[in-house]
Amino acid sequence: MTLILLSIFSLLPHHYEVAYEDTSIDIETKRVEFQDYLPLKPIAGLLGLHYVQDNTTQRLLLSTGERKLLVIGDIATMMCNGVAKNLVFPPLYIGGDIYFPTNEIIPTLGGIFDKLIFIKEIKEAPFINNISLTTRGDSTVLRFDWQKVIDFDVRYLVKKVVVEIDGQYKKTGGLKPVGSIKSAKVSRFNTYTSLEFEVEDINAYLERGKEVILYRKISKQVQLIVIDAGHGGVDPGAVGKKGLYEKDANLDIAKFLRTYITDSLKIKIIMTREKDKYLSLKARTSIANRNSADLFISIHCNASGKTAKMTGFETYFLSEARTTEARAVAMRENASLKFDGVEPTNIIEEILVDLVQTAYLEESNKFAEYIQDHAKKQLSVPSRGVKQAGFYVLRGAYMPAVLVECAFVSNLAEEKLLKQKSFKKKLAYCIYSGIKDYIEDYERRLNN
Ligand SMILES: [Zn+2]
Repeated sequence: MTLILLSIFSLLPHHYEVAYEDTSIDIETKRVEFQDYLPLKPIAGLLGLHYVQDNTTQRLLLSTGERKLLVIGDIATMMCNGVAKNLVFPPLYIGGDIYFPTNEIIPTLGGIFDKLIFIKEIKEAPFINNISLTTRGDSTVLRFDWQKVIDFDVRYLVKKVVVEIDGQYKKTGGLKPVGSIKSAKVSRFNTYTSLEFEVEDINAYLERGKEVILYRKISKQVQLIVIDAGHGGVDPGAVGKKGLYEKDANLDIAKFLRTYITDSLKIKIIMTREKDKYLSLKARTSIANRNSADLFISIHCNASGKTAKMTGFETYFLSEARTTEARAVAMRENASLKFDGVEPTNIIEEILVDLVQTAYLEESNKFAEYIQDHAKKQLSVPSRGVKQAGFYVLRGAYMPAVLVECAFVSNLAEEKLLKQKSFKKKLAYCIYSGIKDYIEDYERRLNN
């Protein structure tokens, strides 16, 4: 049975994406004796090659300027710029088009015409067998069933949860809303499935294997903090004149901070990264939401493009920027988006539209004040105060969230300090003290 299914499947045409410069086309293959062939006509069009075909002799001449390729249907020899070359599989003449072995296209056409072509098989998205909504105790549970694990992404907006799954869902019909889900919309696409829920009375979610659990968190205690060391991997952040990378200083400070917290407070810490690795801005808040963290803190160091004189420590929470300087800091930090292929400009507006953080505006502001207070008391570098701006990394965090800019990488004296372990420990201790004070105040208010 499996064998029959397998051979039927291999007869189905495959699709390839052929890309050149900034254009790509989707081409269906012909599969002949386990070999994939692609028609040359659309590819010639994509590459801007001159195309002359003689149907009686089944000859095709592709050319541009001095470069020429002559192929003949069913003959395993071709002429490349006047030189004969042999192919393992001959090109085929099918229905008026010349088809070329797929795996020979890059070396042959790319080589002769000196064009950088990409060819990738378009794989069908995996299937989701079933999606269900149930209640379990006070929680609402979204459950997936699939053979192979499929990636999905949960986005938490105000009174709305959007789940995007990298698989196709063929089962017809909608999802019946239950529990805290008031309405459910299923959108089916070829490569993914999107679910949109209107929700009520929930403030947290957890991902556990094939389940997303939506619930109302009634913890009166801070139990989990996510510490985010800014940048990493291909994204160095700000780079100092003496070669300091912001990403390295951020990670050191984050690790010292973790030690201070776990040594003295009964609080679990999750680090968004523990190594020099790249992580998208979205992934960082996702870690906090997925684990239903109580607080989120993103650690950065500052830089000023205008003057090397700027110094000091400042703390941000997410809101509309009040000053051009604050806007510039957010712009610089949001520039990490380019490593994900997102254009950072104009993103601020979008950040403010679905501002989950609005619900935590006041708490985040308080949280920032406590940290900045300690910066003022403890640090040798100037205190620049609490500021607000549109940081993408804080967007969508369903908890009080702040971003600290510890000192200026662009200032020679502070760059030197940021290379010292003792200074980084001082910064971490100052942030820790602020967190500790904030938690005391926060829990007191929660329990009243
Ligand atoms: Zn940064």
